[in-house]
This record gives sequence, structure tokens and C-alpha cells, in this order.
Amino acid sequence: LSPKEVAQAYLERIAKLDPGIGAYLTLNERLLEEAEALDPALPLAGLMVAVKDNIVTKGLRTTAGSRLLQDFIPPYEATAVARLKARGALVLGKTNLDEFGMGSSTEHSAFFPTKNPFDPTRVPGGSSGGSAAAVAADLAPLALGSDTGGSVRQPAAFSGVYGLKPTYGRVSRFGLIAYASSLDQIGPLARSVRDLALLMDAMAGLDSLDATSLDLPPRFQQALEEPLPPLRLGVVREGLSGNTPGVERALEEALRVFEGLGLRVKEVSWPALPLALNAYYILAPAEASSNLARYDGTLYGARVASEDLEEMVGRTRALFGLEVKRRILMGTFVLASGYYEAYYARAQAFRRRLKAEAKALFQEADLLLLPTAPHPAFPLGSRPDPLALYREDLYTVGANLTGLPALSFPAGFEGALPVGLQLLAPWGEDERLLQVAHRFE
Ligand code: GLN
Repeated sequence: LSPKEVAQAYLERIAKLDPGIGAYLTLNERLLEEAEALDPALPLAGLMVAVKDNIVTKGLRTTAGSRLLQDFIPPYEATAVARLKARGALVLGKTNLDEFGMGSSTEHSAFFPTKNPFDPTRVPGGSSGGSAAAVAADLAPLALGSDTGGSVRQPAAFSGVYGLKPTYGRVSRFGLIAYASSLDQIGPLARSVRDLALLMDAMAGLDSLDATSLDLPPRFQQALEEPLPPLRLGVVREGLSGNTPGVERALEEALRVFEGLGLRVKEVSWPALPLALNAYYILAPAEASSNLARYDGTLYGARVASEDLEEMVGRTRALFGLEVKRRILMGTFVLASGYYEAYYARAQAFRRRLKAEAKALFQEADLLLLPTAPHPAFPLGSRPDPLALYREDLYTVGANLTGLPALSFPAGFEGALPVGLQLLAPWGEDERLLQVAHRFE
């Protein structure tokens, strides 16, 4: 098959199936042209990738799931996308998300909710729900997501695919529309570990356009070929409860498989982890309130015209969805003088403690295992209470607050719904995660 034929096949499949799923916000109208013009000698020639719509794509509408950016056509390309394209990959389209990445269900997109391909009455997870659903339903072989507090891993778990949150800095954030800059990372979603490795080898590495990017050359595909050294696998259970029986069963079965692969399993405790959620929902909104200040109608994005400047800004910012407004208010509150010390500063101190504990843990274990989420995908509309939605992120935010790499992998089913588990590795050892998950496949 030529790249153009593959592209055509995907477009047909999307036209047939996506109306029932809602994975895509925008399709790449130049896809067939681009496929035709492709240099077949490029290493990823014709590889189709779906891109979460908070990652900017030159000339292709990028909304971040928000009415503020509804008509935004970026004049530049995110580094992750540029690197994939330079190797011959093609962008199929842009996928749905919770507005600016704020949510765990993709129900908070300004446009429409995405449905779980395994059960359309349920959410695909979020905020990268469009990317996860697209990969799960084979509306794209591979996708990019972003993970600030779990947004690659939790939808990967709910949709039965693999999802990696790399070490903070391994993938350039240039062109990722900022939510909480000290936590945000771009990460791949795919149906196999090998596919994740392919994307990481193409995307990761130092980028002069992102001062926080790391000079750690990616060696993902190579790592998959190497033998496993003796490894200690730490199971984190302490303080974490409320898992459904299917999640507990998947965890037990995975432990047996890992033992069979020669890993030494032991229980470990990460005492601060259960509190990570509290710190996350102070720090992430704080950063968000600052990052989202730029959408004021003056420079770019939507503007609701008015003769009066204040009124223009007010009306423009009224276009934010309810959840985004809530985050801005929370963030502004915890940063306000008088409250700063009580909330933001304490959360920062807690973040340092969580990191120190993780560092100590990795003296005892080489990898950590825990569920990605306490249960499989939940029904659409079943989390009207924002706090209930925030609690979904219990197991995922730890990796973001510490900057550590984490991989969610499919580990069985509960009824008809996929269950995902999560592996964490020490800083910069992302390759190890794929190496181990690959043996589990
Ligand atoms: N659900 C979390 C939040 O709403 C994480 C989102 C994300 O990782 N982008 O903040």
C-alpha cells in the first residue's frame, strides 16, 4: 500500500466510525496531497499520527478544546510534531480533549464529548480522550497526547491502549498549549510498546526552543532488544484503596506475570502519595491561572468586540467553559497574598517531600507498579461533582509532581471494559518502562 492508500483507508474509516465516537475535532484536509508528496526514503514515511488538539500544528486548526481558540490556525509547529513530520509522519487530524487539558473524561471539551469505543455510554478518559479513542478504535495507529496530571495514562487505561508520560523534559513542550508548565509533558499513545518506542525515538531530545528540555538522547527501540537486568518491582499499596475487584485482580495477575519474568516483587510504601492530589489541585490551577491570562482578546484567539476595553476582555474571557473558570478562580485564590503561604507555598513544600520520598523508594525498588485508575471507564455524565472528577487522578498525579516517567499498559478487563496498570521508573529511565512492559505484552 502506498501512503496515499493508507491515508485514504483511514479517512474512510474515520468517516464511517467517528460520528459514533467523536475522537476528532479537525481532519487534515491536505493529508492526501501530503501523502503523495512524501519522500519514501524517510524513516517514518507514511506513518499516520493523530495529534491532541492542544499541540499546535502549522496551518491546521488548533483549538485546545476551547471556544477561545475555536478559529486559531497556528503559524508555527510544535517541536514534537515537526520532528515526526521531518521523518515522514503525516498528521491525520486533531483530537478532542477537555478544554485546555482540564478534566479526566473529555466531557469538558467546548465542542462535544468523546465516547469510549468499548462502550459508547462511557467516557474514554481524559483529557487526551480523543487520542485514546482514536487509537483504540483504529481511527489512527498512533497518537500524541499531553499529561499534566494523568491525561495520557488515564485515557490509555480506560481505552485499552498504551500511554507514556515521559520524564519531565524528555519531549519538548514547544508548541504545547500550556496548562501547568511545570507538570505538562507530551506523550505517545499506541496499541503496542514498539509503536510507543518509534514515536519516542523520533520526538524526544534536547530542543533549543524549550529551556526545560533534557539532553538525554532517546534509545527506546534499542532498549527493547536488550535483555532485562535483574529488577526489583515495588508495589505501592499504602493509603490507596477503593479499587474495583477487576483492578485488584489485574494487579495480582500482573504481579504473577512479572515474577515469572524474573522480577523480584516487594511491597513498598510511598506515604505522601495519597496527599499528592491535594497538592496537585493547588499547583496545577495556580499555574493555569497564570498561563490562561493571555486569552484576553488582545493578541490572539477569540475577541468579543466592544468599545470598552474592560468589557471586551470580560466578554472574551466569558467564553471559557465552567471547569476552566473554576480552575482560574482556584488558582487566583491560592496565589493571592494572604493565602499564598497557606496554600501555594505549602503545596510546593509538599512537592519537594513527595520527590524526596520517591527518590528514597527507588533505592529499594527499580520500578514501581500501581493501578492507573481505581476503576475502569465510568458512564458519561456520572461525575457532575468536580471533586469526584478530581479524585479520578489519585494514582496519576504523583508522576507529574515528581517529574518521573510513567507508563500505563493494558492489563486485562473488568467485564467488557479495559483495565490499565501503571509502571513508574526513576528520573530519565523511561526506556526501562517500555522494556519491561514489552515483556508483559
Ligand atoms: N485530570 C487532571 C486535571 O484536570 C489532569 C489533566 C491533564 O493531565 N491534562 O487537571
